[in-house]
Amino acid sequence: TPPSTELINKMQKQLSGEAFQLLKEIGETASRIDMPVYLIGGIVRDILLDRPNFDIDIVAEGNGIELANRLMETHGGDVLEHESFGTATWNTPSGLSIDLVSSRLEYYEQPAALPEIETSVLEDDLQRRDFTINAMAIRLNAEAFGELIDPFGGQNDLREKKIKILHNISFVEDPTRIFRAVRFEQRFGFSMDEQTEKLALESIDKVIHLSPQRINEEMIRLFTEGSPQEVIRRLFELNVWQQFGVHEKQLDASVATAEHLEQIYNEQVRKITNLQIAEKPSWFNYFLLPFYCNDSLYAAEKFTLRKNRKKLLEEIMALQRHEQWNEFTQIGDYHLFLHDYSDEAILFTLVADQVPHQGSVMEYLYHRNKLQNYLNGGDLVKAGLKPGPNFSKILLHLEVSQLNGDVSTKEEADQWLEEYVCTL
Ligand code: ATP
Repeated sequence: TPPSTELINKMQKQLSGEAFQLLKEIGETASRIDMPVYLIGGIVRDILLDRPNFDIDIVAEGNGIELANRLMETHGGDVLEHESFGTATWNTPSGLSIDLVSSRLEYYEQPAALPEIETSVLEDDLQRRDFTINAMAIRLNAEAFGELIDPFGGQNDLREKKIKILHNISFVEDPTRIFRAVRFEQRFGFSMDEQTEKLALESIDKVIHLSPQRINEEMIRLFTEGSPQEVIRRLFELNVWQQFGVHEKQLDASVATAEHLEQIYNEQVRKITNLQIAEKPSWFNYFLLPFYCNDSLYAAEKFTLRKNRKKLLEEIMALQRHEQWNEFTQIGDYHLFLHDYSDEAILFTLVADQVPHQGSVMEYLYHRNKLQNYLNGGDLVKAGLKPGPNFSKILLHLEVSQLNGDVSTKEEADQWLEEYVCTL
């Protein structure tokens, strides 16, 4: 496609004046050493979609490091070379950071026996990308600034709202692309085309070969970007949860529970301002739900990498289907059973297990986070008690009395202690 004013206008609209100017200067500098240079990848897609994107990725058909150094000579700033990757980061004097990648020509030299095939180095780079909408470039050289390179019909797929892979073994080559596809579906309201979805389903068993670390990264992105209910549903449709041992019949329960969880955070957690908890359920809560509904939380263990998440998972496992939930009449009663559990674990279980009397549990959480420490170990010693492990038990019982409204001042706490000592 020849340079189009429409595309240049879109570039101008989405990029800061400064970034736009820099791209022109990069093109001019590259032209002086006869080096074709392109803006590439996600930013091209977003320019065409009229969405902001600040990741300026540039590919040079030649030595990106050399180009970066030229830019530094003419415009200042500094250059960070990553020799082994053939890439360089140019930090511009105004504080932008621009990655310049070399298309490594030596990779693409054809062995003599093969027929000469006219593929440009750039096309080879684009060929290795995930989806047609991400496999476009914009020429930056002065003589062709604003020329769209779109060998796979990405622009058309943007119009048709399609996520399409570039070749049939794409998902087998890299199953993370399945998660990426779902993420782009959610982000843009697009959908995979029929063939892409068919191939995703056919290679879905490959996702279990991804490292837990990788799966975590993809899940974090999915659940922070998309609607959790939609993400859970889509991952069921694509048989992802099924690979992790969750039965497909858990789809509806998982989606409904995700909705309840979101609801309780929106309606309750925000009101109770003193909870030790984030404003929204974390991605990990949503990730656990299908396992929970399937009664196979243990299967989530291998994806639980961080210490704080391991602790949360352990707490939830311990609370799951706990019978004690039903038995309480006063909020202090909850304390004996729940005092060691985090707000987050309790809330999760409340929703996932459809615990009865949720209002009372919420009230308990509110009051326990307001508990005053009227007495400490020193007070117990003064009252003639021998220090030991029973101290924390005594103090716990005092908290129970506070929660039940029997003790609400320091004086009442002293009196409570006196009476306690008398019963010994
Ligand atoms: P985002 O807005 O989320 O950053 P992006 O498209 O810029 O979206 P990145 O993850 O930063 O996504 O990747 C940059 C580019 O690298 C993508 O546009 C895509 O062309 C390519 N890419 C990333 N991951 C893969 C992959 N697994 N397989 C093939 N190409 C990929």
